[in-house]
Amino acid sequence: MTSFGRFFLPGPTAVHPEVLAAQNQAMIGHRGLAIKALMEELQSGLKDVFQTSSPVLVSTSSATGLMEAAVRNGVRSRALTLVNGAFSQRFGDIAAACGFEVDALEVEWGQTITPEAVRERLSEGGVDAVTVVHSETSTGALNPLAEIAGVVRDFEDVLLLVDSVTGVGGVEVRTDEWELDFVLTGSQKAMALPPGLAFGVASDRMMARSAEARGKGVYFDLMAFRKQIDNLQTPTTPAVSLLYALAEQLRRIGAEGMEARLLRHRAMADRCAAWVRSMRDEKGLELMVLAPEGERSATVTCMVLPEGVSGPTVVSAMKDLGFVIGGGYGKLKERTIRIGHMGDHSVAELEDVLEGLERVLR
Ligand SMILES: *Cc1c(COP(=O)(O)O)cnc(C)c1O
Repeated sequence: MTSFGRFFLPGPTAVHPEVLAAQNQAMIGHRGLAIKALMEELQSGLKDVFQTSSPVLVSTSSATGLMEAAVRNGVRSRALTLVNGAFSQRFGDIAAACGFEVDALEVEWGQTITPEAVRERLSEGGVDAVTVVHSETSTGALNPLAEIAGVVRDFEDVLLLVDSVTGVGGVEVRTDEWELDFVLTGSQKAMALPPGLAFGVASDRMMARSAEARGKGVYFDLMAFRKQIDNLQTPTTPAVSLLYALAEQLRRIGAEGMEARLLRHRAMADRCAAWVRSMRDEKGLELMVLAPEGERSATVTCMVLPEGVSGPTVVSAMKDLGFVIGGGYGKLKERTIRIGHMGDHSVAELEDVLEGLERVLR
């Protein structure tokens, strides 16, 4: 097993031993006073993470489950899907798989979507929802979510559905202030929990859309989630052990403070970028960060490798040194590698990975 501080996948990310240990508690029923007390505690911490006063829905599924919930409850007939990488592409694919019409606004992988382009496309009319991935985990690019949300708000009856899976908990997300209609994440990314839970917040507009949605199925019906969370419960049996881990992690997040947590993540991204620059300027390595400066996620860095150096080879050489890093995703597999610096990692641990990476690359 890889010890803490050596596991830098962009999800799942390393889980702190105290959080892992918290799972080891006796079961409680999912109806009744005990679960309500637990859920009440969780709500307070989760609202802080999402910067919302709305209830945070807790789903026992991976994040993809709530991506499906987003489109099934939030799209009436046609969605505009903003594509700048593999996960945003997937969001559109999920909408299509659920039977909706999908238009794509696509930019080159690694780039970000401009609010102006969204405005131009929405002005043409015909779509009732927009899907966007906040932090594109496949490329390390961070979309200007607040600005995109501002544009979508100008279009009446268009909902904004946000995958912030590698955003929430590591990058600023102001659910209420930015008036996001649905924003979701999974437990195993910047929240640094074991995989298996997903969290989402729905606006009143989203709930109204859900109320009129047909064919949304049972498991991801947001009406059912909302009804139960108002009673501090979940529609179906939750992964209780993971809720214990979440309670512990929210205590840890509360102790650090969200502001400090976001700064720590930004410091890790900045350190990666500075390291890449020094490899290029001082060591003559043709290494690059894929996303442009100023448009980079705080939680994942995607590096473009020098010509002739293969991504999978670097990942496997790192493994030999005892580090797990992410390979390039999809069509970026050969040319890139990714370092997930999110959750409970620190700059100090990151230094060790970068030192290893320098040995591998030279
Ligand atoms: C990891 C990830 C997902 C998928 O999450 P699962 O928990 O595997 O369903 C979706 N979107 C983004 C941006 C991700 O990073």
